[in-house]
Amino acid sequence: MENLNNGGNELFICKVRWLTILGFPLLLWLYSGRAFSGVIFISVVFMVYNYLTSIYFKKSVPNRHSFLLSVIDSVYLIYIFTLTLNETGGLPQVFYFLILVMGIRHGMGKYPMIVLINSLLYLLTSLLGPVYLKITIDPRLLLVHLVFIGAFGIMSSFIFRRTYQQHLEKEELITELQGAYQQLCIYNAQVEELANTDPLTGLYNYRFFTQRLDKEIELSKRFNRPLSLIIIDIDHFKDFNDTFGHPSGDIALKEVTLIFKNNVRDKDVLCRYGGEEFLILLPSTGIEEAYRCAERIRMSVEQHGFSVPETSNPVNITISGGVACYPIDADSGEQLLRIADEVLYTAKHKGRNKIHRRR
Ligand code: GH3
Ligand code: MG
Ligand code: MG
Repeated sequence: MENLNNGGNELFICKVRWLTILGFPLLLWLYSGRAFSGVIFISVVFMVYNYLTSIYFKKSVPNRHSFLLSVIDSVYLIYIFTLTLNETGGLPQVFYFLILVMGIRHGMGKYPMIVLINSLLYLLTSLLGPVYLKITIDPRLLLVHLVFIGAFGIMSSFIFRRTYQQHLEKEELITELQGAYQQLCIYNAQVEELANTDPLTGLYNYRFFTQRLDKEIELSKRFNRPLSLIIIDIDHFKDFNDTFGHPSGDIALKEVTLIFKNNVRDKDVLCRYGGEEFLILLPSTGIEEAYRCAERIRMSVEQHGFSVPETSNPVNITISGGVACYPIDADSGEQLLRIADEVLYTAKHKGRNKIHRRR
């Protein structure tokens, strides 16, 4: 996976890095003329530079840019070395080092490119050295080192090939695993949805309701706000089934569901209790508002003409409902459901097509 830019201080690191790359040689030039020779200087610059570069690479360089930056790094290193050395002694070693480091960093796939770039850089440094940096170059040595750098590249590529192969296999395995994991997450989400959904109406089922009820009671307690519950039962639904058949009953259940959906808010939780009974949880809703909502639903169902294949005339259905509210009617989810059920029973006994509450 790509190591993306996400450091908030990216700009800062970037500035520091460029300051180091350009600033040190500038200082060197300003204060010491040109040749500030000495191992200490090289070591300090190299350490600071490496430290800042490593932060930069870890935190803020997208992988696709890091190769280019490596090349820039190499040019910088060569620049520092040639400035601090009066002749080319040690220069080829810098290239051996660069080939190794870049090979490790970018993988063997880029090895031929790394060797080629470093050979060219070495050639360029050696050719420009005498002109601009007053470095004396022995042309025979230049040729020998070029051959050595190339040979070193090829040799070390053999040594690292196996490691690189293993690295590639590991990457492949990681990609495969990531794919499988993502698929598993998708399956899990699908299974979870199936386990919580009623297949006929697409509403949440009772299993989901019980979990949600506990959570909503918890939230209501914590934030000191009411929670209402409406329980709805279709009146004489057995008769409906007996008259028009079970399949028509199923269609009617789906139509009733649509009416419920049209009369509740997004945050309300609509569930099928089982059979022809439904539950609606209304978070942050007091008894009055919940009662009005239940009445609205009852009237909408009453006024709706249900289409049934067995007859050309629309059929009417009525519902009865019970409303209870936490904390005025109950102090737990279980009790809330029991009270709502009790008042529903009263609505049934008082003639159906009614909504009831305790007070
Ligand atoms: P009440 O007014 O007292 O509620 O009378 P009721 O006939 O609705 O009540 P009862 O509990 O006697 O019958 C419920 C009926 O609901 C029985 C069953 O045929 C029907 N029913 C339950 N689940 C389904 C379903 O998934 N599809 C269909 N078509 N009918 C169902
Ligand atoms: Mg019933
Ligand atoms: Mg019923």
